[in-house]
Amino acid sequence: MESGYKTGKVLISAREIQNRVDALADKIASGTRGRELLVVGILNGAVIFLSDLVRRMPLELDVKIDFMSISSYGNAVKSSGVVRILKDIGSDIAGKDVLIVEDIIDTGLTLSYLLNILNARRPASLRTCVLLDKSEKREIPVTIDYCGFSIPDVFVVGYGLDCGGSLRHLSDIHALDAIDAIDG
Ligand code: 5GP
Repeated sequence: MESGYKTGKVLISAREIQNRVDALADKIASGTRGRELLVVGILNGAVIFLSDLVRRMPLELDVKIDFMSISSYGNAVKSSGVVRILKDIGSDIAGKDVLIVEDIIDTGLTLSYLLNILNARRPASLRTCVLLDKSEKREIPVTIDYCGFSIPDVFVVGYGLDCGGSLRHLSDIHALDAIDAIDG
């Protein structure tokens, strides 16, 4: 069936992703001092990563899940610089161990903004877990506690990451040199 997109070359395969997600889940679980962990996924890009990550966490850890949605790229490849909360988490995080799960960090604008707002709510701890790090593009320094892969400055899709809302469902991560939409 014609998808309407050429997806570019595979940058990180599904198998590599799954191996790395296993290792990250182990590290996060062993680095969590309390018995409870609130995992906050950033919609929509982190949904697939988060769902794989939490399912690898041990039963002994009381894992809770919540989501935030903030404005970021929209359909464009370049950041607008505008960061705004579209959906907030539903629970009070004061005194809790919180882990932010994000698909990709680029300029750092999004994550630094989120860290500021969530830190102001006085969690016991606030850590960050990012699947992909484009460190070349960083404009604001951000501490990443758990990182999946460092990648070059290419636009990527798949495993939750989109191009104009599409291609999130791909199991591999693909690099697009140019967004290569073709007529369906
Ligand atoms: P930052 O605020 O760090 O510049 O950007 C983070 C957000 O930009 C991510 O959550 C994601 O929505 C978007 N983004 C940055 N690079 C890429 C990319 O290569 N592919 C896709 N699909 N989104 C990206």
